[in-house]
Amino acid sequence: MQYLSTRGQAPRKTFTEILLGGLMEDGGLALPVDYPKLTEAELTAMRGMNYRELAFAVLSKFADDIPADDLKRIIDKTYTAAVYSNGRPDSDFEQITPLRRLEDGLYLQELSNGPTLAFKDMAMQLLGNLFEYALGRTGETLNILGATSGDTGSSAEYAMRGKQGVKVFMLSPYGKMSAFQTAQMFSLQDPNIFNLAVRGVFDDAQDIVKAVSNDLDFKAKYRIGTVNSINWARVVAQVVYYFKGYFAATTSNDQEVAFSVPSGNFGNICAGHIARMMGLPIRRLILATNENNVLEEFFRTGVYRPRTSAETRQTSSPSMDISKASNFERFVYDLVGRDADTVRELWREVDRGGAFDLTRTPHFAKVADYGFVAGRSSHADRLETIRKVWADHNVMIDTHTADGLKVGLEYREAGVPLVVLETALPAKFEETIREALNQSPWRPKAYENIEALPQRSTVVDVSTQQVKDFIVANI
Ligand SMILES: *Cc1c(COP(=O)(O)O)cnc(C)c1O
Repeated sequence: MQYLSTRGQAPRKTFTEILLGGLMEDGGLALPVDYPKLTEAELTAMRGMNYRELAFAVLSKFADDIPADDLKRIIDKTYTAAVYSNGRPDSDFEQITPLRRLEDGLYLQELSNGPTLAFKDMAMQLLGNLFEYALGRTGETLNILGATSGDTGSSAEYAMRGKQGVKVFMLSPYGKMSAFQTAQMFSLQDPNIFNLAVRGVFDDAQDIVKAVSNDLDFKAKYRIGTVNSINWARVVAQVVYYFKGYFAATTSNDQEVAFSVPSGNFGNICAGHIARMMGLPIRRLILATNENNVLEEFFRTGVYRPRTSAETRQTSSPSMDISKASNFERFVYDLVGRDADTVRELWREVDRGGAFDLTRTPHFAKVADYGFVAGRSSHADRLETIRKVWADHNVMIDTHTADGLKVGLEYREAGVPLVVLETALPAKFEETIREALNQSPWRPKAYENIEALPQRSTVVDVSTQQVKDFIVANI
C-alpha cells in the first residue's frame, strides 16, 4: 500500500514511513492511493471474527509493510480485555467495543473502556506498541511533542509510558484542565513522561508545538515526532470499531447501519468514511458538533470557515472545542474527486486564515453520496439528553456522547439501527453531570482517589525557547 499526499506534491510513502511522521512534505495529509474494497465473501468471513481478528483483517490491508506475524502480535497485545476494561457494571469487555442497547435499534458503542476513559485510547494504545516496534527495528529513539486540552495528552501518555525509545513532552494550559484530567496526566511518575504546564491557553501551547516542529533542524537533531489527530495510524486504527459495531448491530450484510459521531477534528468520523469507502454498509454518517459548529456549518451550507481562537468557545463538551478540523482535508480530497490541485487551492485560502465555499460547485451535491449529514447541540441539549437517557434507560452518558445522541436521534430512520459512538465516560466531566443529574458519576476503582496522588509537572512561560531548552536538557 502506497500513501499519497492530499496536496499532490510529496513523494509516495509506505505505512512505516508515515507512521512516525506528521504532515507530508507539501503540507498535505497522507491517504492510501486507493481504498481496499472488501468482497462479499470477506465481509461474511469478518462477521464471525473477534475484535483482534477484525483488527488484523482491516489493518493488514493498510500496514502491508509490517510482517503479518509482527502485526498480529502487536494487535493481540493491544486489544485485550485487560487493556480495555474499567470495571463498569454489565459490560462485555471481551468484545473490546461492546454495544450497549438502549432500545430496539438504538445502541451506544462503548469506546471509552481504555486506560484514560476516552475513545482516543482505541487508537493510541496501538500507536504506542507500533512506535516501540518500529523504533526497536532501527534502534532509533523518538521524542513526542504535543499540546493538549485534556483527552489527547492523557491518552498519549498512558499509551507511551514505559515504552522503549520513546519520551513524551506534553504541553497543557496551566490551570485550565479539569481536576480529574490534570490528575490523570500529572500523577504519572514514569521517567519517560514530561508534563509542561504553559502559562497561557491551549492555543499558546499549540503554537509552541508548531514553532518547534517548524524548526526543521531542531526537529531532526532531537528526533521530534507527534501523535496528533492527523496521524494516519490513529485514523486507520479507528476504522476497526466501525466494523465491530456494524456486525454487532446486524444479522446480515444486506442491512445498513447509521453511525452518529461526536466530532471535533474529524478524526473519528473520518475513520467511518474510510470504512464506508471499503464497502461496509453504512447508510449514514451523522456528524454531531457542539456550539463550535465549523463542521456542521460546512455540511449545512457548503462553506468551510475555520474560526479564530478568539471565536472558539469553551463548552461543556470541551474535547470538541476546535477552531479548525485537522482531518477534514482527507474527506474533501475524496469529495472533490481526489483532485490534489483543487485541494491545494482550497487550503491556500484556509492556511491564510480564510474560508472556502463549495456551494456553487458540483462537489457539494456529492456530500449525500458519501452518507454525511450533520447537526449541532448546545449546553441545554446536553443536559436534557443526559437526563433523558438516565431517566429512560438508567444509563449515564458523558457530554460528548450526549451531543452524538441528540443529533443522531434527529436523523434516525425506521428499520435502520442507529449506533451512537460513546467517546468518553461521564467520570471525566463530573461538573456537568452534577449539573444535569445532581449526583456524581461512577468512577473506575483505579481512579477513585486520583486527585489526591502526588503530581509532577513543570510550569513554563509562553516561550518556545524555554520548551526547547527543557527538551534538550531531558533527552
Ligand atoms: C477527541 C474527542 C472527540 C472528538 O473526536 P475527533 O476525532 O477529534 O472528531 C469527541 N469526544 C471526546 C470525548 C474526545 O476526547
